[in-house]
Amino acid sequence: MRKSPLVIDSKLPRVGTTIFTVMSKLAADYAAINLSQGFPDFQAEPSLFDATWRAMREGRNQYPPMAGVPELRAAIADKVSTLYGAAYDADSEITVTAGATQAIFTAIAAFVRSGDEVVVFEPVYDSYVPAIETVGGTAVYASLRFPDYRPDWEQLRALLSPRTRMLIINSPHNPTGSLLEADDLEQLAELTRDTDIVLLSDEVYEHIVFDGAHHQSVAAHPELAARSIVVSSFGKTYHITGWKIGYVLAAAELMAEFRKVHQFNVFTVNTPCQLGIAEYMREASRHLGLAAFYEAKREFFRSQLRDSRFRLLACRGTYFQLADYRAISDLPDREFAYWLASEAGVAVIPVSAFHHDGHDDRVVRFCFAKQEATLAAAGEKLRRL
Ligand code: PMP
Ligand code: GLN
Repeated sequence: MRKSPLVIDSKLPRVGTTIFTVMSKLAADYAAINLSQGFPDFQAEPSLFDATWRAMREGRNQYPPMAGVPELRAAIADKVSTLYGAAYDADSEITVTAGATQAIFTAIAAFVRSGDEVVVFEPVYDSYVPAIETVGGTAVYASLRFPDYRPDWEQLRALLSPRTRMLIINSPHNPTGSLLEADDLEQLAELTRDTDIVLLSDEVYEHIVFDGAHHQSVAAHPELAARSIVVSSFGKTYHITGWKIGYVLAAAELMAEFRKVHQFNVFTVNTPCQLGIAEYMREASRHLGLAAFYEAKREFFRSQLRDSRFRLLACRGTYFQLADYRAISDLPDREFAYWLASEAGVAVIPVSAFHHDGHDDRVVRFCFAKQEATLAAAGEKLRRL
């Protein structure tokens, strides 16, 4: 071990280890059932691995083109055209990224300058604000309020200013499971019309929407699409969060700026994995079946908690279920989550972790992207509380 003599003036003085890492470690330390960090505890299909292995064996192991292998960009263009009726050019409007986290960071670095403001909605996914602050921008917080977490468009109108460079939205929304409606996109279009605000739309849960609802992709809204960077992730869609591959859609002028940063940020993304995904995603049922697959898991998990003292909030999309625990405990949510992992044997995420000021509605997030046996074992523990 060395001790550095440097005086470090941190760019991110308030940032520690992410809550997902903290809670997963706590789950491991206490051998608790881990319903905290969002990842499946089941395998992806072998045909995805076979296609990737084949690409490796065929010698596709060197640097791919900077924007991604043509096979994958073509498959993405076809999917987006089929689902959202939007024609994105595979050469100039689609870039493959090392997951959504890199896509988001790169987009922010490409467009946000020192002193710019970026509006985010709270509860806010944890990577957005550190990315904004790393490049010298300032986050401005709009609120999604408990219990239905709907945006307040009048509040947003009041928060926009000539300094607003970017607006970040996320639907289906992590952690609340809420969705933006067609009408919300109209509001956004009206509020940003005649401005130079870039819209960054995090749509990593695009295929996980329930009860017959349709995902309202910004890509399907021509006016918004023209000012937007749309982000998705194969980690969520094909049960491979550890592969870290995603993509970005944007109008060519925006994409050119994105790529200026992308090429020096990661340059390119794992070739055989891109080729494996390109082949696998050609069978559309693999992403189209996801909503029904996770809806069944949502129903199973909710039925497990029906006779518990948790009050389940609505979950319209994503693989996260929020629950109000006031009938069980008076503890603040971080302490409750610690207690739940250490004493009750189930790890969750405290939702105050998604608020910059620690705002606490006494709500925790469960991830139900798990095998039924895992959810049933957790249910048994949770019903005892
Ligand atoms: N955005 C949201 C809303 C997420 O939930 C996640 C990951 N769970 C990401 C971005 C990051 O995705 P990736 O793992 O592809 O970096
Ligand atoms: N996005 C995942 C979640 O919300 C976790 C990703 C991470 O650990 N950074 O749980």
